[in-house]
Amino acid sequence: MTSPALTATVDLGAIAHNLDVLRDASDAAVMAVVKADAYGHGAVPVARAALAAGAAELGVAHITEALALRAAGIDAPITAWLHTPGADFGAAVAQNIEVALSSSAQLDAVVAAARRSGVQASVTVKVDTGLNRSGVAVDEWDDFAEKIAKVHAEGVVVLRGVMCHLARGDEPDHPLNSEQAARLDAAVADLTRLGAAPEVVHMANSPAALTRPDLARDMIRPGIAMYGRTPVPERGDFGLVPAMTLSARVALVKNVAAGQGVSYSQTWIAPRDTVVAVVPAGYADGVPRLLSGRLRVRIGERLFDSIGRICMDQLVIDLGPDGGGVSEGDEVELFGTGRHGGPTAKDWADAIGTIDYEIVSQIGNRVVRQYVNAPTPDDAAGR
Ligand SMILES: *Cc1c(COP(=O)(O)O)cnc(C)c1O
Repeated sequence: MTSPALTATVDLGAIAHNLDVLRDASDAAVMAVVKADAYGHGAVPVARAALAAGAAELGVAHITEALALRAAGIDAPITAWLHTPGADFGAAVAQNIEVALSSSAQLDAVVAAARRSGVQASVTVKVDTGLNRSGVAVDEWDDFAEKIAKVHAEGVVVLRGVMCHLARGDEPDHPLNSEQAARLDAAVADLTRLGAAPEVVHMANSPAALTRPDLARDMIRPGIAMYGRTPVPERGDFGLVPAMTLSARVALVKNVAAGQGVSYSQTWIAPRDTVVAVVPAGYADGVPRLLSGRLRVRIGERLFDSIGRICMDQLVIDLGPDGGGVSEGDEVELFGTGRHGGPTAKDWADAIGTIDYEIVSQIGNRVVRQYVNAPTPDDAAGR
């Protein structure tokens, strides 16, 4: 039997549990956000699990991501919200992918694709309510609204959704959240007045879904919380369970004599005779090089420090003079749920001044994804 050197074990049962937590907090339908390969967890298996656990829809950034889900046989509603000129709007329309529009030019492209194919396009309007990133800009709104109402009336497109994205959702009490909601509601009122009332309105990301049920409207769009990571650490973990555990198998155990340097540039010099282990995980796998000297791993009941530079493919840990009872092939937990005192993705993020979103979404292609505890549609029926 072979076992992979490096594994990201994804607990799909945790994802189902986290969706329950989100639904309970917000009392709204769920669009599960599976962009960026489901934040590194694997888009297709996560999408299937989320739908089996009761998510109504899926959200991604690019049309290409949506097409990959369709190619895998997923027929649930999918919205894609980030487009460049030349994006395949024709395929999106043909495969019933809902395009979220940020500009008149994008609307023109979808209208052209719909007219070409004779298929009505279902679209969402993405309104810039204050993030000043994607979304229809404030000074373009009136023209855009009239234009989309017109093609909606003609039946070329059906305006199904209106959405915006929060700039400070992770600061639940910040006044901008309610201001953005008011701007979104005003946009919906404009469209309704023009005869294009949307069916679904949504703005809440994970932090808003958990802390501001008043912003939920018809649907929430959680990403990070579905993966079990608290989006507002000051408010606790909300009972979320981290879905990804990153683990490796010890490749090599060896003695290093006092005074010897370990790894590139020999930034760590053995203060005593010791035993080290080589762990086959490096920055190409998503272990940030900046964590060199600041990473701690769990083997069994014990924690061990990484020593020296983290390399592209490997890192080295100090087992101590007695070797810590560690053997080649033993399982090393790099990060996980934090149970048993093990490290978490948040520990990594805190150590290098980033957020755990970045840690999990950087886990590389070479890491084998393994899926456990997949929910079944029967589980969802019982929810
Ligand atoms: C990524 C993204 C989300 C999910 O955000 P989380 O903070 O991970 O919940 C929701 N909506 C849009 C538009 C996004 O880009």
